[in-house]
Amino acid sequence: MSDSKEEISRRAALQRAAAAGAGLAAGSGVLASGGARQVHGSVVGPGTQDDWFTKRAYSLSGNKVLGEDGKGAIPDASLASRIYLPESAEEVSRLVKSLPPTTPIATIGGAHESSNVAMLASDNAVIFDMAKLNSIDFHRKGDELLVTVGAGVLFRPLVEAVRDHQGALPVGTGPDVGVVGYVLNGGISGYFSRRLGLLGQRVVQMTVVTATGELRVVTPADELFAAMLGAGSALAIVVDMTIRVAAESVVQGAEQRVFGFETREQAVQFSRDALRFMKAQVLPDDSVSMELVVSGAKALVVTVIFYDSFVGDTQTFIEPLMSLGTQLDLPVVDQATWSTWYEAAAALWPVINDMVGDPLVTLQHAVGTVGVPSDEILDFVSDTIVAEFPLDEAGFSIIEIRTLGGAIFEGRQLPTGNFHHLFFVDFITLYDAKNKTVVQRQGIADATKRVVDKSAEMKGLAVDFSGTHSQPDDLRTFTKASTMFGTEDAAATVVALKRKMDPTNRFRFHPFKKLL
Ligand SMILES: Cc1cc2nc3c(=O)[nH]c(=O)nc-3n(C[C@H](O)[C@H](O)[C@H](O)COP(=O)(O)OP(=O)(O)OC[C@H]3O[C@@H](n4cnc5c(N)ncnc54)[C@H](O)[C@@H]3O)c2cc1C
Repeated sequence: MSDSKEEISRRAALQRAAAAGAGLAAGSGVLASGGARQVHGSVVGPGTQDDWFTKRAYSLSGNKVLGEDGKGAIPDASLASRIYLPESAEEVSRLVKSLPPTTPIATIGGAHESSNVAMLASDNAVIFDMAKLNSIDFHRKGDELLVTVGAGVLFRPLVEAVRDHQGALPVGTGPDVGVVGYVLNGGISGYFSRRLGLLGQRVVQMTVVTATGELRVVTPADELFAAMLGAGSALAIVVDMTIRVAAESVVQGAEQRVFGFETREQAVQFSRDALRFMKAQVLPDDSVSMELVVSGAKALVVTVIFYDSFVGDTQTFIEPLMSLGTQLDLPVVDQATWSTWYEAAAALWPVINDMVGDPLVTLQHAVGTVGVPSDEILDFVSDTIVAEFPLDEAGFSIIEIRTLGGAIFEGRQLPTGNFHHLFFVDFITLYDAKNKTVVQRQGIADATKRVVDKSAEMKGLAVDFSGTHSQPDDLRTFTKASTMFGTEDAAATVVALKRKMDPTNRFRFHPFKKLL
């Protein structure tokens, strides 16, 4: 189905749901399921299905608020015929078995995926919203602390629970991002992955339900296991996953400085020199990581995380960045020193919570290099991405320039481009659509696209190489399966497993839909 067809009005969605006899009750109970069979489960009824969509979707895709007719119709309801809220692994399995074998199934964890592919789904599909599977259980195996998270667990409760167990994990920045949705699509932590790897590399077991409804416990011995940790949203439904927790002592401390800027030229100049610092001092040294965020709020946020192996003085380490701000006459508008993993893990929650819209609109893109970036590429990042990205027009937008590699390269290879990239830049277009005309929204989308197009022409720079930082509903895509999944071999494995595990493509609502 084309993206424009997915953009339907609330009324059309409700009419279709009614015609299909779908979603006849809200709350737990025994429900009629498309035909004669009975299934257990709670379901979002037709009268509340549009509410579910508007409340649950974190944002709307910047491609879906333009309107084919030029009037900018904004999607406000899922196309799915029924939305289930299963409460156990057995219930997920039973539901899958009870549905006609060709019924497409979309799964929702934290509802943060950028193109709303699973939230909108299609009119012959059902959605499993995993929100009720929200248990977090800690247990020990020998010396190791393990945590088993249900498929509905979000980062905030996990981070708080891990803090209470004196632990640490390479978590994402968004408090309400789904932990499982992040892992299955190759999630990275700009602050912690260089020391702790990708969160997917710390997974030791998963409970999944296959396209035929079989309930399986999957371990590293299974061929499906590694493939799930980068391409999993296309292969099976995850009910829970068990993750190795590290000790909180892996983080020694962190320094964050926020410089204000007035003109884009100042942001470009700061970025140019800060990236040279990153290349010379941070990329060769696995005991530190650095992130530079250039934001539409006219702030340059530099964060340096010092891991347990760091030897030296943290203030001395960041001194060149401070001098850079002074040279450019940029005021320090905020600063923080963190001494724990938790403080760093939770630091961005208030900022992210302030990004609200009616609706909030997003486009996600990433570029990066597998090795140390050339000076030419660094200049491209500052002189083109920082200079030309629509930071002013889309006021919540951010450019995040990060160091990866380190422990990621040492751990188990996963089928995501995020595994292979040392230098990583994601640029996220974000704005409140409330007071934007369709022409303005189109202008923001076009400006974003121009930056992506130029990035794709840049030799040595890969574009959109994971499910967590890409925009699958863009008209054009620059990603090949081998880039998205990391290598030709990884792509071949994912494609073969997709054919074997899901021959009728029931699980089609994932960020790789143009590739699988
Ligand atoms: C504010 C914000 C901060 C972010 N920070 C980071 C970050 O620091 N690092 C990073 O890498 N990414 C980050 N992301 C991107 C985010 O990790 C991805 O969008 C991720 O896929 C979202 O997962 P979700 O469960 O919230 O979304 P959903 O839309 O619920 O799920 C995303 C995809 O995974 C599938 N899926 C979800 N759960 C399951 C399941 N149980 N079984 C099978 N398939 C499933 C869905 O069908 C869908 O295709 C951020 C995004 C936002 C909006």
